Amino acid sequence: MGNAVDVIVAGTGPGGGTLAYALRGSGARVLMLERGDFVPQEPQNWDRTAVLVRHRYKDLGKNWINAGGQALMSMAFHAVGGQSKFYGGALLRMRKGDFEGREQEDEPVSAWPISYQDLEPYYAQAERIYWVHGAAGEDPTEPWRSGSFPFPPIPHEAETEQLMGAFRHHGWTPFHLPIGIDRRPGGRCIVCPTCDGFPCQIHAKADTEVCCVRPALEDPNIELLTGAQAHRLRTDAGGRRVVAIEVVRNGQSFEHEADVFVIACGVYESPALLMRSANDRHPGGIGNGSDTVGRNLMFKQMTMLTAIHSEVPHTGTFHKTWGVHDFYAPRGSSKAYGVVQSSGKLFPARSPNEPPDAATQAAFAARGMNLLLMTPSRAERENRIRIAPDGRIQVMFGPEQRGTAHAELVDAVKQTLVKVGYGEVFGVTRPYDNKVRWLWPGTHVAGSLRMGSNPADSVVDAACRVHGLDNLYVVDASVFPSQPAVNPALTIAANALRVADGIMGRHPPARP
Ligand SMILES: Cc1cc2nc3c(=O)[nH]c(=O)nc-3n(C[C@H](O)[C@H](O)[C@H](O)COP(=O)(O)OP(=O)(O)OC[C@H]3O[C@@H](n4cnc5c(N)ncnc54)[C@H](O)[C@@H]3O)c2cc1C
Repeated sequence: MGNAVDVIVAGTGPGGGTLAYALRGSGARVLMLERGDFVPQEPQNWDRTAVLVRHRYKDLGKNWINAGGQALMSMAFHAVGGQSKFYGGALLRMRKGDFEGREQEDEPVSAWPISYQDLEPYYAQAERIYWVHGAAGEDPTEPWRSGSFPFPPIPHEAETEQLMGAFRHHGWTPFHLPIGIDRRPGGRCIVCPTCDGFPCQIHAKADTEVCCVRPALEDPNIELLTGAQAHRLRTDAGGRRVVAIEVVRNGQSFEHEADVFVIACGVYESPALLMRSANDRHPGGIGNGSDTVGRNLMFKQMTMLTAIHSEVPHTGTFHKTWGVHDFYAPRGSSKAYGVVQSSGKLFPARSPNEPPDAATQAAFAARGMNLLLMTPSRAERENRIRIAPDGRIQVMFGPEQRGTAHAELVDAVKQTLVKVGYGEVFGVTRPYDNKVRWLWPGTHVAGSLRMGSNPADSVVDAACRVHGLDNLYVVDASVFPSQPAVNPALTIAANALRVADGIMGRHPPARP
């Protein structure tokens, strides 16, 4: 161990930031590289127009292209903490069956090379780190847990409690959604309406900057370079070890050396980094011997419903307090599959759910709510990222493979909403295909560097180490071999804690 640092971590989202947190106090000298900067704490954090309409914090650079070569807006958030600075903090464990492989619409969905059992202790740790508030035993699909949630659930607003009764009457099993906010004793959270989609001005949302990166930086062995874009990896002559990472900062290139390299730049940028690092030993890019880097990209099918009750007031505003998992398994002949989550009153400031006129807007304010419906997609090799000849990231979709699971879920939910008294329900399902002109990361996108035991169809092994490389790891959402219906961030964080343990076991730092 002759390098200035032991471990370099590129990317500070739930993957990279949580891994760096796990290394604090270990004696390892760690350098974190983050392309973005800290999101400033400022009044605009909670300004709907600034955030949702003017996209104050998004990188709108038309730096990507679609399959046809047309400009594609990435709409990414490049910030310390990654997308979690803007997420809703719904922090759920994957269900046991999600690891085991299942069928979705008569097609097999890949199993993970690790089991729920393997990840359970790390889920428990991640829930403590990310202040998860929840109630065990309410959701019939919940996997076993070694202990209760670290914090009690966020109570429903009175109107929501009433609503829960109506949903139960119509056969649903609503539960308190596990959520990461600072409602610990004496905590800072004021349960305001600007949470999902917004950065928290008072740092009361359990994002990766607040819960992991800042605490990690209290260790004098851990350092962070912001505005530092990981551009390329350099290997030794044999191609088995990464020896340096080239970083572009303020228009200049630098090389940083380390013993271990961890890539966590997100599902688009991590494969791009491996592909840009092609050399004689790795002509198609590092880890790309089987032409799997960048492939198997999975977008969730998402529909945001706006529902307006005919008479019952619904003025409560806090977003993600309840969920429904009754569609996590097939019900009779229905193919409806996915999850339903409350989303407060995210709209009207954001199309395409914007109520069409002033009267509908007023009705929404008085008696409306938003619901997010999500169905996972299967991994398809033709859904992919590659580097175009001009160096730009190209996102390509194969033939449409989607069946009716999401559409049937939307129909089933709408039917129940009507029975409960929601006279007006509208919403739009976002398509993902080669005609799309912008992509945003809130779709829980996953895949692109899938984990698996067979190097012929995966990029990293069960330890998240790139096949054929001794010291290169990946810990972001790109390693997901299949996509769960539940939100991904807690799994990304728990997996990063697991990988950190493996790294410390395999590459112990030389202590003074
Ligand atoms: C509005 C919104 C709401 C969401 N709500 C939820 C929710 O409620 N629950 C949930 O579980 N998930 C939610 N998500 C999804 C969740 O935030 C992501 O799945 C998660 O952040 C992905 O983590 P990651 O570490 O894989 O990547 P990211 O969070 O994308 O982090 C990657 C990091 O790498 C940096 N980076 C990129 N390229 C480079 C480079 N070349 N060099 C250096 N750094 C680089 C990026 O700037 C970024 O900081 C939401 C997302 C959004 C946008």
